[in-house]
Formats: sequence, C-alpha cells, structure tokens
Amino acid sequence: MLRLPEFEVLTPTSVSEVIEALQVPGTRIVAGGTDILPNLKHRLDQPSRLVSLARLTEFRGVKEENDVVKIGSGMTLTQVATHPVIRQHFPSLADAASRVASPVIRNMGTLGGNVNLDTRCRYVNQTEFWRVALGGGCLKSEGNVCHVVPGGKNCVAAMSADTVPALISLGASAVLVGPQGPRTVELADYFTANGVAHTKRGEHEVMTEIHVPKASGPRRAAYFKWSVRKSIDFPLISLALAFDLEADRGDAAIRSVKLVVGVLNSKPREVSGLETLIGKSLASPEVSETCAAAAHKQCKPLTNVPYDAEYRRKMIPVYVRRAIAELVEGT
Ligand SMILES: Cc1cc2nc3c(=O)[nH]c(=O)nc-3n(C[C@H](O)[C@H](O)[C@H](O)COP(=O)(O)OP(=O)(O)OC[C@H]3O[C@@H](n4cnc5c(N)ncnc54)[C@H](O)[C@@H]3O)c2cc1C
Ligand code: SF4
Repeated sequence: MLRLPEFEVLTPTSVSEVIEALQVPGTRIVAGGTDILPNLKHRLDQPSRLVSLARLTEFRGVKEENDVVKIGSGMTLTQVATHPVIRQHFPSLADAASRVASPVIRNMGTLGGNVNLDTRCRYVNQTEFWRVALGGGCLKSEGNVCHVVPGGKNCVAAMSADTVPALISLGASAVLVGPQGPRTVELADYFTANGVAHTKRGEHEVMTEIHVPKASGPRRAAYFKWSVRKSIDFPLISLALAFDLEADRGDAAIRSVKLVVGVLNSKPREVSGLETLIGKSLASPEVSETCAAAAHKQCKPLTNVPYDAEYRRKMIPVYVRRAIAELVEGT
C-alpha cells in the first residue's frame, strides 16, 4: 500500500486566509485531492502543509454577467458537466468535464484542480521505487536527465487536463488572487513549455474563477478525447474546436475558428494559420482538410504518455475530420 507522507492540513474559510497560508514556503493547495494526493503517495512532492479549499463556499457557483459566465474554480467536474447555463452556452466544456476519469472522481475533482492539473509523464507518474529503479529519476523527480528527450534540459511532460483545450478554444480566462490582489490571465497564455512548473500561477496565488465569454452569434464547438478506455483513462490525444459562424448567412459561413490540441507537451497547442477559412462554409471539404493538415503539421506527440507517438500523430487529423463532420451534421 502506498502511504501519504506526513503534512499539516489547513482548512480556511476565506480567500485571504488561503493567501496568508500560501506565504509559508512548502505549502500546496488541495481542492478535490484526486490528483495531488496520488502524486504525494508517489513522492513527487513533499509539502509540509496543504491548504484545503473544501470549506470555501465562495469558490462555488456559476454567475451570468452580461456576456460572460463566471464559473467558480471549486465547482466539481460533475457540476460543470451538468450545469444548465454551462450546457446551454458551452456544451464542449460540459462534454470535456464529463469525460474526465469516472463519476466518483468527477464528484470530487474540481474545475480549478483540472486547470491546474500537474503535467503527466509515463516515466514520472510511477512509484518512487519504479523511478529510482529506472536509473535515478528524471528532471521532474529525483534525477537530472529526460527519458523522453535524451539530452534534453527541459521537461516535456504532458498537459493532460480534459477541460483545458475546451476552455482555451472558448477564449476563457482565469482569475488569480494573491497578496497583490486579483489579476486575470487568458488561459491561452497561462501554460508554459516547462513541464516541472507549467503554469504562470505565482506560488502565493489561488485561482478563484474561470471566465468564459458567451458567443456573440451562432457557434459550433466540440471536444474530442481519445483514450484507451472510455472511462478512468487520461487522454492520449485531446482536441477542442470552436467555429463562430455568421448569423445572417444560411451556409454556416465561418467568422472565426479555434483548434486547440492537448497531450503534446506541457503547453496546449493552438493550431495557427486557420484564418484563411474565414468566410468559408463549415461544411466545405476545404475546412476539414485545412484544419486536419495544419494540426498534423504543427502537433508532434512525444513518448511522454503511453502509446506509439507516431501513431498518435497520425490519428490527430483523423480526429479533427471526425469532430468537424459531427459539427457539420449539427448545423
Ligand atoms: C484514476 C484517475 C483518472 C483520472 N483521469 C483523468 C482524466 O481522464 N482527465 C483529466 O483531466 N484528469 C483526470 N484525473 C485527474 C484529476 O482527477 C482531475 O484532473 C481533477 O479535475 C483534479 O481536480 P482536483 O480538484 O481533485 O485537484 P487537486 O488534486 O486537489 O489539485 C490538482 C492541482 O491543482 C492545484 N489546484 C487545485 N485547485 C486550485 C486552485 N483553485 N488554484 C490554484 N491551484 C489549484 C493543486 O495544488 C494541485 O497542484 C484522473 C485522476 C485519477 C486518480
Ligand atoms: S518529460 Fe522527461 S523530465 Fe519530464 S517527466 Fe518525462 S522523463 Fe521526466
């Protein structure tokens, strides 16, 4: 049996108490605990204190304010997946939340925990015994080498959170509150290419809300997850698409397009060069082929998660085409 290390647990009831607690070095945030606790059992970190968000009622709830929906970071994934406002305005986000793990984990795991989910790698999400037996760990654990990119000086563990590609495709931002007060950061700019510390969250900051702008016209959006099993498993490839369409044209003409791919390295990839599709009909074969080709060209999966990396790369355009075909059927 894997045991947790010893640590102190604080259970504040206000944001200011959380920020005060985070001032003490070695303090980590725990929300649902479905990711951090297994990681602590694997000795991927040894914090002296955990500050729990479980008693912060202000972190829960969904508010509609003008053109923005504000989702509390403490909303469980089940709540995100089933909330009527989220389902009405952001079905791809509700779908992504509903695809995480299993019902029990979704009842515990939170949106804030999912957005801040630690990166994953087949060489590090293992027991300490396994890692040491491999030859002394790696850059993200006890060692100084990378098994994915031999000779590499940077950890490229995978950003595997299901909700993140969907949120970025919808133009979401997050509110972080720290000793200097609140600040808002676009989720598209939140992640870095360093798998050891892959977000721009300051160590004294806590994420309180996720803001998602409503569509200003018709929109077709989808989240697509490929995993070995339909339940429990993290994605091997994840992608989110959002097409905003012209309101006054009957042929579903594209006004803007976003395609975001996850599980590559520690940063989600927003596929570029799709502006040429503006004005084209969503149903036109050119749209599907352009998105599929651009995603294949720009997205290069690594051996950081199980399954053959080259096969995963080949499947990206396949899933892009399938996702767009489903969206076309829905128009
Ligand atoms: C068997 C299993 C299968 C899983 N499958 C999936 C899957 O398919 N897809 C998927 O996306 N995830 C999966 N997970 C991971 C996890 O359950 C989810 O990502 C969940 O959303 C994490 O939320 P949490 O509240 O439990 O986070 P926690 O474990 O409490 O925290 C996760 C990280 O986020 C930080 N954090 C939490 N809340 C905040 C906040 N408000 N502000 C700043 N930092 C914060 C914590 O410090 C920690 O670093 C799986 C986990 C298990 C055990
Ligand atoms: S990508 Fe490399 S350094 Fe990062 S966890 Fe995997 S093996 Fe370790």
